[in-house]
Amino acid sequence: MRFIVGREFDAERARYALRHACEDCVFFVAETGRCANGYPNAMHRDAAFAPEAPGDGTFCKDFELL
Ligand code: SF4
Repeated sequence: MRFIVGREFDAERARYALRHACEDCVFFVAETGRCANGYPNAMHRDAAFAPEAPGDGTFCKDFELL
């Protein structure tokens, strides 16, 4: 899902402690930083949603909360 990452999303993410990135997904392999399902995951990682990121973060349809 593509959307505009802006100040409103940043505020809501912090306010509601949203968990949507690889680091909070059961399929994330912390030792390698990769996805156990083999998906390219740079755009789904926490860093892709940081305020200083280029704004290309996207939600992953296979995300499963830890
Ligand atoms: S399934 Fe999606 S959210 Fe989960 S680790 Fe893989 S790429 Fe990231």
